[in-house]
Amino acid sequence: MVNSKHYDAIVIGAGPAGLTAGIYLSRARVKTVIINEGVAGGQMVLTHEIANYPGVESISGYQLSNIMKKQAQSFGCDIRTNVTVKNFSLAGELKSLELTDGATFTSHAIILAPGGRSRTLGVTGEDDYKGRGISYCATCDGDFFTGKEIIVVGGGNSALEEAVSLTKYASKVTIVHQFGHFQAFEHAVEEAENNPKINFIMQSAVVAFYGNEKLESVDIKDLKSGSTINFKTDGAFIFIGYVPNTEFIKDKIDLNQWGEIVVKNDMSTNIEGVYAAGDSTAKRFRQVTTAVSDGTIAALASANYLNELKIRQKQNILA
Ligand SMILES: Cc1cc2nc3c(=O)[nH]c(=O)nc-3n(C[C@H](O)[C@H](O)[C@H](O)COP(=O)(O)OP(=O)(O)OC[C@H]3O[C@@H](n4cnc5c(N)ncnc54)[C@H](O)[C@@H]3O)c2cc1C
Repeated sequence: MVNSKHYDAIVIGAGPAGLTAGIYLSRARVKTVIINEGVAGGQMVLTHEIANYPGVESISGYQLSNIMKKQAQSFGCDIRTNVTVKNFSLAGELKSLELTDGATFTSHAIILAPGGRSRTLGVTGEDDYKGRGISYCATCDGDFFTGKEIIVVGGGNSALEEAVSLTKYASKVTIVHQFGHFQAFEHAVEEAENNPKINFIMQSAVVAFYGNEKLESVDIKDLKSGSTINFKTDGAFIFIGYVPNTEFIKDKIDLNQWGEIVVKNDMSTNIEGVYAAGDSTAKRFRQVTTAVSDGTIAALASANYLNELKIRQKQNILA
């Protein structure tokens, strides 16, 4: 078939995890293709400035994505962007994929690196002020709010821990939470409650974001009385959960209760020859550095698996 090609390894997702896997595999002469839904770079492309990637003082996410992509291509890695997986079979030694553009690929190893996305509130103005006052990552963007007054939306461990960490930068942090109590560990609640920079607006929800060039205020609705106030703020950090992009594999591979891919130390999954890396896996910290680390481990482990498989196949022929 013209539109059909065999690779040693197929990587799904061209974020930092997938691109790193592509770099390592291709450099080890493992014939690799990366398939990506949109443009290469994943969530990095959404990041205005990355200032915590070791060795690079400050770089735009778009630039870092392009460097990683070119590095993978320089070692011979194929990268197919703006295309996604329609059907695939992971069982057995030979895996196969059918893409939305009609191409079909086969391989003996697969690395799943589809990343994820922060859960959004889905209210008026949220899309308009993403990256212009609204953030979903304190580690990434906290520094930009030094000396500013901000709000944090959420009431779980992440919201409370990140609110505390944001007090290193912000002059005042107001936590807005929909219930009258928090869904977090006691120590996290205590730490937030004892922090003099943190205030609370409970049983309330952010229902709209407003501003001009940047976010200037939010509407907060009191869920008991139904009344709404307009609240001035320089920034809003939203921590209401994380959604891994694993819907397309949910019936094919072991996921945990949050839809994250369950992996072992070598990033292998429950299916032989299938590895996973990056934000889509079950883990606590989601950063470019951790994605790059996962991508490295998945690539080295899958290259090892491919070597072992070759030896096994040779022995079977000789037997
Ligand atoms: C606004 C923002 C700012 C951030 N700032 C920083 C920062 O300053 N420093 C830092 O270290 N981290 C930062 N992060 C976090 C960091 O970007 C992520 O941890 C990292 O990108 C995760 O990498 P990944 O490769 O696992 O997944 P992703 O970057 O999410 O990439 C996954 C890729 O897979 C593709 N994909 C998904 N499903 C499919 C499919 N079915 N078929 C084909 N392709 C698919 C997606 O389109 C995407 O391109 C930030 C995140 C955001 C959202």
